Formats: sequence, structure tokens, C-alpha cells
Amino acid sequence: MSTLITNIAELMTQDAEHRVLNDAAVVIEGERISWIGPAAAAPAADDAVDAGGRALLPGWVDSHTHLIFAGDRTAEFEARMAGESYSAGGIAVTTGATRSTNDFDLTRLALGRVAEAVSQGTTYLETKTGYGLDLENEARSARIASTVADEVTYLGAHLVPAGADADEYTDLVCGPMLAAVRPYVSWADVFCEEGAFNEGQSRRVLQACKDAGLGLRVHGNQLGEGPGVQLAVEFGAASVDHVNYLSAADIEALAASWAGWQGTGVRGTVATCLPACDLSTRQPLAPGRELLDAGVPIALASNCNPGTSYTSSMAFCVTTAVLQMRLSVHEAVRAATFGGALALRREVGNDADGERAVGSVAVGHRADLHLLNAPSATHLAYRPGIPLTHAVWRAGVRAR
Ligand SMILES: [Zn+2]
Repeated sequence: MSTLITNIAELMTQDAEHRVLNDAAVVIEGERISWIGPAAAAPAADDAVDAGGRALLPGWVDSHTHLIFAGDRTAEFEARMAGESYSAGGIAVTTGATRSTNDFDLTRLALGRVAEAVSQGTTYLETKTGYGLDLENEARSARIASTVADEVTYLGAHLVPAGADADEYTDLVCGPMLAAVRPYVSWADVFCEEGAFNEGQSRRVLQACKDAGLGLRVHGNQLGEGPGVQLAVEFGAASVDHVNYLSAADIEALAASWAGWQGTGVRGTVATCLPACDLSTRQPLAPGRELLDAGVPIALASNCNPGTSYTSSMAFCVTTAVLQMRLSVHEAVRAATFGGALALRREVGNDADGERAVGSVAVGHRADLHLLNAPSATHLAYRPGIPLTHAVWRAGVRAR
């Protein structure tokens, strides 16, 4: 079964050459993209969709969400808007609600959030554990996450639960809890921040998870400068997320991690910016412009979670990155598509590989496509707050 999407006013491929094509067409065959080029030269297909002069982008790749939770934190949000500052401790409220919710309801809630994301153009999505914070509930969260998300990250090291000793809890995270979640996850993460896990504890978590064969990610430098970025680079993490407070040495370390990329394909550590979270916590926006100028690949992600960023809108993140972080539209869309794929190490993969690339439009890549109700991607920033998603294909299947 093949589908021709034609009459595309602007096709922003986000491919290796950063190509933007006008008057373009794309052919989907099964789950893959089988042809792209000028509309006038398009081959015949079983089915045809007239894009009506709209813009087509890769689907969003949301590389940082926390969707396995129950309850909400409206009261904490109101207090924050009234002037209270954010501290990591609010996570405990969600942990209580999550533990007391059964598997069926926790799954239903998570599926609803994924559907909300897909309806806005997200076609590939990571999510994390981290609201269980005991062996049974972290394992349960990981199992449920593996049924709703494309990529699952173990975040037992999200917060030290109330009443627990931090070092003893770290032992649990690195030992029996890791063994219990291992069948369901491919990534591990640690919240390396004052009030969460210190450098020594973070180091132990990263080492144990690396030894267990997991890819690594780090929540770092959100509330102040700290060791998160340096640890992420030292351990070869695929991404360090938040990155609000960076020293010159941090930016240098991130840039250095990509030194061999063009020649050898060895990837460094992506800096993942979470602008919706920064606005909701009234933190300074992450220095996305400075990171790009220093040669550091960045990703934009929603950080959808009930405490600090209760949105799955990648379009909102892109809009904010353009209006407030001084990214161009092309740079912001790239960070929210190819950049997210790079942060999940899913940006390569073709017909010959086991897994197809996501986050860019190229022949052999997964057919994850987002048709905007606008003639160009510029409208994402030019018309802030307007829902512009017109159609979505996820792995070749029309999802909206
Ligand atoms: Zn997070």
C-alpha cells in the first residue's frame, strides 16, 4: 500500500543536507518513506492526498516526558505563580497519587497523554519512570511505560523518597530496583541537582546503569550550576536535559563531545532544552542560541509532567524557542525533530538496518509526518498559540 502526498508548498526535510523543497511530494510505502521530490515528477501510488499547498515537516520527536503518573499539582502551580520558587520536593505529591492508582487507570491516563501528543504532531516519544520511587512501583511504571511509549527511561533516581536515607536509596536504585525494571527499559536517567541526587550518588547511578547495558541521560543544571553536564559528558550520555545554568566549561565540554561526529559518526551529548518547563518554573530559558553557536546539537522537548511542565505541545516549545531563545524557525524545528532523534540515538537507520531513522524526511526513514494548516513552518512562530496540526502520519499510518 503506497500513498502519494502531493501539492506540498514547503517540505522541511531536516535531512542531512537541511533541504527545504517547494512544490514537493512525498510517497509513503508501508511504514517507510519511499520517494521525495518535485510534485511534477512524483510517481503514481495506490492512494493520493492533496496537501492543498500546506507545509510538511517530520513529526515531532519528544525526547523527554514523564507520562506515568496520577493526580495533578494545580495547587503547587498556583503557589509558584504567586511567587513561591520551585524545589524538587513537589515530586513526592505525584508519587503518592501514582502509588495509589491501579495499573488499568495508570495505563489509561498515560495513553490519553500520548494521544494528546500525537494529535498535535508528535510521532516518536520517550517517557520515564520516576513517580514510583520504590521497587514495586518503579517496576510497574516501567512495565506500563513500555506499552505506551517508543522509548522508556528508568528514573528511579528522580527524588529520594520521604523518610529514606539518600545513600541507602541510591543502593536500591543501583541494585534490586534496576534489576526489576531492566526488562522494560533501554535508558537510565538521574536528577543530578541540589535537593535530589548529589555528584557521588549520581555517579553511582550512572555507572550501575551503564554496566547494566542501558543508554544514559541526565537531568542537570536546572536550578543552578552543578556537576550534571560534566558527568553526562564523562559517561557518554546521549543527552543532558534542562541545561539552564551553564558555565563556559560546561559548554566547552558539550562541544568537545561532538568533535569526532562528522568524521567517525561517534555521537556526543545533546543539550536538551525544555522551554515550557522554564516558563512554568520562571527559570531563565536555557541558552539554546549560545549552545548552537558553540557547535552543540540541541533538542527541544516538552518535559510533559504534572509539576513543572504540564503540556505535550511541541509547537509551543518551538514557538518559544524562536520568540524567546533566538533560534530561527528552521533551527527550532530541527531541534524538535532531528535533535530529539539524536538525543535518543534514533536519527540514523535505513532499509538495511533493523530500525528506521526518525526525526527527518528521507527515503528509507520511518514515515513520521506532520502536515501543518499553514503554507510554511514559519507560521509556527508567526501565529503563536494557533493549533496548526492538519494531519499526522506515524510509521506510515494516518494518526490524525
Ligand atoms: Zn524531566
